[in-house]
Amino acid sequence: MSSQNATQLTITRPDDWHLHLRDGAALQAVVGDTARQFARAIIMPNLRPPVTTTEQALAYRQRIDDALRRQGDAVDFTPLMTLYLTDNTPAEEIVRAHASGQVYAVKLYPAGATTNSDAGVTDLLGKCGKALQALERCGMPLLVHGEVTDPDVDVFDREAVFIERVMQPLRRAYPGLKVVFEHITTKDGAEYVRDAEGPIGATITPQHLLYNRNAIFTGGVRPHWYCLPILKREVHRQALVEAATSGSPRFFLGTDSAPHARGLKEHACGCAGCYTALHAMELYATAFERAGRLDRLEGFASFHGPDFYGLPRNAGTLTLRREDYVIPDEVPFGETSLVPLAAGESLEWRVA
Ligand SMILES: [Zn+2]
Repeated sequence: MSSQNATQLTITRPDDWHLHLRDGAALQAVVGDTARQFARAIIMPNLRPPVTTTEQALAYRQRIDDALRRQGDAVDFTPLMTLYLTDNTPAEEIVRAHASGQVYAVKLYPAGATTNSDAGVTDLLGKCGKALQALERCGMPLLVHGEVTDPDVDVFDREAVFIERVMQPLRRAYPGLKVVFEHITTKDGAEYVRDAEGPIGATITPQHLLYNRNAIFTGGVRPHWYCLPILKREVHRQALVEAATSGSPRFFLGTDSAPHARGLKEHACGCAGCYTALHAMELYATAFERAGRLDRLEGFASFHGPDFYGLPRNAGTLTLRREDYVIPDEVPFGETSLVPLAAGESLEWRVA
C-alpha cells in the first residue's frame, strides 16, 4: 500500500454498498461508470414501481446484466440485489429472497423520505414485525434510510431524531438483526454506529466527506449539491471523515450515486441526488488524502463492506494515479444529460 504523496495507489478492488442504477435508458447510460471502478454494488430497489418481490429483483438483475453486455467489452461486475420493504412484505418473501442467492438485503424507506419512497413503510415496528423477524433469522441485513419524515422535524435534524424514535427501538426489539445505517450524514449518526452494541454498520457517501451545507448555497442555489439526507454543518462533515478514516470495520463505502437528468435537478422542485459513479474513487481518495489517511482507504472501500455482509473480499485490484483530472461539465444520459458532482472542479487522482 502506497502512502501520502505517492504517485500511485493500488488497492484491492472496491465495492459500492449503496447505488442507484435506475432502469431503461438511464440504466444503460450509467451502469458502465460503476462497473469500471467497482466489482460489486448493492442495487437500490426504489424503481417505479418499487422492487418488492424476489421475482422483480431477479428480473431487474437480468436487465442490469443485459445493459452491461450491451456496453461491449466484457465487464466483471456483479449487482447485489435488494428488496424494497413495505408495510405488507410477507416473511415468506424474505425467505424466498434469501434462498435465491442473488438478493442480499432489504431496504427500509420511511414513506416519503426520498426519491420514489411513497410506497415506503409507515410504521416499522407496528407493521413489519414478521418481515423483521425473518430478516433476523436468515441473517440478511436491513438497510435503513435513517430519517424521520415528520414535517414538523427540521430537515437538518431528521437523522438525529430517527436514531431516537426508530433506530434504537428497532435494535432493542431485534438485537440480532444486521442493520446498515445508510449514508450517515451527522456526528450523531457516526457516534451511534461507532458505539452501539450488536451487528451494525454504516455507509458514507463522497459528498458528505467532502462538502458541508455551504456547498448548496455558494454564490446562489446549487442544485447539484442537493441530496437526501441533505449536506450538514462542518462539524458533522468532520465527524464523518473521522469515522470513515478511523479504521473501524463498521464504516464502509456507499456512494448513493443517484442520477437525475439535468433538467430535473435544475428545476423549480429539483430532485435529490448526486451523481458520483463517474468519479467515485477519485472523490474518496481526495477525502482520505485531505485527512492524511490514504492508508485507510482500502479498508473502507474494499474490506469492511464484504466483511459485514459475510461475502469474500475481491481478488482483483484498482489503481489510482496522481494526475490532474477535471470533472466533466456533463455526461450523456439517454436523450438528456447528467451533471456529475463537482462538475468543472479538478481532482488530483484518476482511476487508471
Ligand atoms: Zn440512496
